[in-house]
Amino acid sequence: MKNEAVHILSLLGAGTVLVSVKPTKKTIAAAVGITLHENILGLEKPSVGVIYVNEKFLNKNFTYSEIRFILAHECAHIFNNHVIASTLWNLIEQALKGDNNENYDVVELLKFLFIFTSKSKLPPNAETLRNQEYEADRVGADVTGDLFSAISALSKLAGNDMNAPSHSWELFGNVVPAMTMGERLATLQAGMEMA
Ligand SMILES: [Zn+2]
Repeated sequence: MKNEAVHILSLLGAGTVLVSVKPTKKTIAAAVGITLHENILGLEKPSVGVIYVNEKFLNKNFTYSEIRFILAHECAHIFNNHVIASTLWNLIEQALKGDNNENYDVVELLKFLFIFTSKSKLPPNAETLRNQEYEADRVGADVTGDLFSAISALSKLAGNDMNAPSHSWELFGNVVPAMTMGERLATLQAGMEMA
C-alpha cells in the first residue's frame, strides 16, 4: 500500500514523498500530513505524513481498484494540506471556548446560528470538513482516472444507505452529520461531469 500511496502522491505533483502507511482499527482510512508546494532544503516539493488504513477490512470488502481510490482520497488530503485548515478551526474553537471551557455554551449557540444563516447550513468548521471531503473525492477519482471505482467504493462505504452520515461535527455534545454519503456521491458525479 505504501508504494501505491507514494505513486499517487507523485502523480499529484509531490517530488519527495515521505509518507508511511500504518495500520488502524479505529477507522477505515485516515491521513495526517502536509505537502510543501515548493522546493525546500534540497527536497523537491516534499510530502510528509502518515496514512492509516484498516487493511483487513479493506481487503475483505473492497476491490483493488476501490482500495486504490480510498488511498488516493487520503493522498489528496495530504497533498492539499487539509489538516492545516481543520486544525486551525479546532484551535479557534478551543480558544473561543476558553481555558476552562467557560464560553462553551455561547460558542455552541453561535455554531447553531450558522444553521440558519450560512448557505451550507453548517458552521465554518463543518463546512471546511465537508468541502475537504468533496475535494478529496474529486481528486481521488481524477488521479486514478477511475470514476467507476470511486463511485462503487463510496456506495460500499454508505452500505447502500444514501442517508448514512459521512463525516460529522458536534453541537452541545450531539453528533451532527456534515454531509450524507448520498451528498458525497452526488457532488462527485456532478463535479466529474463538469470537468
Ligand atoms: Zn477524507
